[in-house]
Amino acid sequence: MSATLPSSSYDIVDHAYDVVVVGAGGSGLRATLGAAQAGLKTACVTKVFPTRSHTVAAQGGISASLGNMGEDDWRWHMYDTVKGSDWLGDQDSIEYLCKHAPAAVYELEHWGVPFSRTEEGKIYQRAFGGMTKNFGEGPVQRTCAAADRTGHAILHTLYGQAVRREAQFFIEYFALDLIMEDGACRGVVAWNLEDGTIHRFRAKMVILATGGYGRAYFSCTSAHTCTGDGNAMVLRAGLPLQDMEFVQFHPTGIYGAGCLITEGARGEGGYLTNGEGERFMERYAPSAKDLASRDVVSRAMTMEIREGRGVGEQKDHIHLNLNHIPADTLAERLPGISETARIFSGVDVTKGPIPVLPTVHYNMGGIPTNYHGEVVTKDGDDNDKVVPGLMAIGEAGCVSVHGANRLGSNSLIDLVVFGRAAGLRCAEIIDPNEPIPEFANGAGDKALARLDRFRHAKGGTPTAELRLAMQKVMQNNAAVFRTGETLEEGQTEIRKVERGLPDIAVTDRTMVWNTDLVETLEFDNLICQAMVTMDSAANRKESRGAHAREDFPDRNDDEWMKHTVCWYEESDTHIDYRPVHTWTMSNDISYIEPKKRVY
Ligand SMILES: Cc1cc2nc3c(=O)[nH]c(=O)nc-3n(C[C@H](O)[C@H](O)[C@H](O)COP(=O)(O)OP(=O)(O)OC[C@H]3O[C@@H](n4cnc5c(N)ncnc54)[C@H](O)[C@@H]3O)c2cc1C
Repeated sequence: MSATLPSSSYDIVDHAYDVVVVGAGGSGLRATLGAAQAGLKTACVTKVFPTRSHTVAAQGGISASLGNMGEDDWRWHMYDTVKGSDWLGDQDSIEYLCKHAPAAVYELEHWGVPFSRTEEGKIYQRAFGGMTKNFGEGPVQRTCAAADRTGHAILHTLYGQAVRREAQFFIEYFALDLIMEDGACRGVVAWNLEDGTIHRFRAKMVILATGGYGRAYFSCTSAHTCTGDGNAMVLRAGLPLQDMEFVQFHPTGIYGAGCLITEGARGEGGYLTNGEGERFMERYAPSAKDLASRDVVSRAMTMEIREGRGVGEQKDHIHLNLNHIPADTLAERLPGISETARIFSGVDVTKGPIPVLPTVHYNMGGIPTNYHGEVVTKDGDDNDKVVPGLMAIGEAGCVSVHGANRLGSNSLIDLVVFGRAAGLRCAEIIDPNEPIPEFANGAGDKALARLDRFRHAKGGTPTAELRLAMQKVMQNNAAVFRTGETLEEGQTEIRKVERGLPDIAVTDRTMVWNTDLVETLEFDNLICQAMVTMDSAANRKESRGAHAREDFPDRNDDEWMKHTVCWYEESDTHIDYRPVHTWTMSNDISYIEPKKRVY
C-alpha cells in the first residue's frame, strides 16, 4: 500500500506485521527467530547487514554453568553476577538469566554454532573475570568459546536459522522513530537507504534490539554503528532510560587504536605489568588478581598510570603479557587477537607484550524492562507500568542483569536468553488471528519532520565537528574516575555541544545512501544519551561498580541502592528512581544479601 502523508513530500510504503524487531545483532536475531517459530508474522529491520552487527566482534565467549571443565552450578553464576553488578542488578532477572543459560547455549550448539571442544568433545569453557565456584571460592571455567570468534559464530548461525523460519528481513533500512499513540507503541518508521523510500511498519509488538552507544565516547571498542538509536527513540517517545551513568571500561583496549583484546587472553593465563615490570594486580585483588572484574582492573591500571608507573615514554599505558603462553595454545585459542595485536600495535604476541589501556566497551544502562523484555516506565503512583507494544533486549535493554558492572561473557548470554524470552512472551500475548491495528491519522509525521529538519539543515558546523566535541567531553568528564567537579564541568560542556545542533551543516540532500544524513541522525541520537549519562553520573553521589566517584569513594546502600531513571525533554533531563528488585523469581534461591565487594 502507498500513501502520501499530508505534512511531507515523501511517498510512504506501509507494512503490517505481528512483530517487528529493530536490530539484527545476537539479541534481535534470537527474538526474530523465536517470534517466527511461534507462527507470528515477523519482520526484522536493520541498518547494517545482519552479520555485520557489532555482535560479530565478540571474542571471548558466552557464559553458562555447563560444568564441562569442573563442577559448576547456575546459583554460583547468579552469585557472581549479583556481586559483579555491585548489588544493583535485579535478582529476579539474574535468576532468570543464569537458570536458562545452559539451555540457551545447548540450543545454539544444536543450531550449529561451531564451539571449540574439550578432549572428550564437550563445549570448551575458559576462565573469565569475576566467575567463581561455590559462591566466591576461587575461579571456575564457565565461558563457552568458539576460539576467540564466539560472536561471529553465534551471529552467522542465528541469521541462517532466522532466514530458515521465513522471517522477513529489511536490510539497510534505518529506523527513524517509534510510532506512539496514547502511551502505546504502534509501529516504527524506517528509511530504506538503498532506494530512498520511507516505510511505516504497523505492528502489535516492536522489539528494540539496537545495541549500545559506545560511540558517544572518543575511544571505544564498539563499531561505528553503535550509536544507541533505539535508546534515543525511547527518549523521544517520552520514556526514560535507566542507569545510564554505568559505562564499562574494558581494561585491555589496544593503546592508540582502541581495538579490543579479549578478557579471554587473561583467562588463558595472560597478565598485566606496569612500567616497573611488576604484576600490580596482586596488590589490588590478591585472590582474583588479573581476573578481578573489569571495573576493578580498569581502576587499578588507571591508578598505576596516575602514580607514574605506566609503560612507555609517556608512561601512559600498561602491558598485557601473553608471550609465556605456548605458541600453539595462542594459535588455537586466541588466533583473532594475535592478528589484531600484530596489525594494530605491531606486536608478535609470542614474543612481546601488547600495549593496552582501559577503553569504553559496554553500556550497562539502557531501556528499562522486566525479564520478559517488556519495556517499563513509572506511572503517577510510583509503580512500574508496562508500555504496551514495546520491548527492548540486548545491550539496548536494561533488564537489569548487569547492574553497575557487567561480567565478561555475560552479554552474549543476555542476548540469547532475553531474545528468547521476548519471543516466548510474544507467543503468549499476541494472537496471530487478530487484525493488526490501523494507524491513527498522521502516524509517523513527527519522525519525518525530524528527518526533514536535518536533511535540509543549512548551518555552519559540520556534524563531525560536533561529534568530536561530544566524544572529547565524554572521554574527559565521564571517565574511569569521576568527581563532582569534572562531572559538573561535563554537564556544562555537553550542553554547549547540544546547543550546536541548530547550526548543524548537512551538505547532501539526497535520499539514496546519504551517509552525511545518517551520521547526523546518529549524532542527534548520541547527544541526548550523552546528556542523560552525564546528568545521571553527576546525580549519583556514591561509588558503585563502574561509577567511581573520588569525592564519594564508598557504596552507599542506604541512599543509593536504586535504579536511576532519566527522561530527556526539550534539551533538559529529569531524574527519578526505581527500586532494585530484591526478590527472586522462584524458591530455588533466596535473595543474595549485599556485602562489601572484594576480589
Ligand atoms: C569488540 C567487542 C567484543 C565483545 N566481546 C564479548 C564477549 O566475548 N562476550 C560477551 O558476552 N560480550 C562481548 N561483547 C559485548 C557484546 O558483544 C555486545 O554487548 C552485544 O553483541 C550487543 O548485541 P545486541 O544484539 O544488543 O546489538 P548489536 O550486535 O550491537 O546489533 C545492533 C543491531 O541494531 C541495528 N540497528 C541499530 N540502530 C538501528 C537503526 N536506527 N535502524 C535499524 N537498525 C538499527 C544494527 O543494524 C544491528 O543489527 C563485546 C563487545 C565488543 C564491542
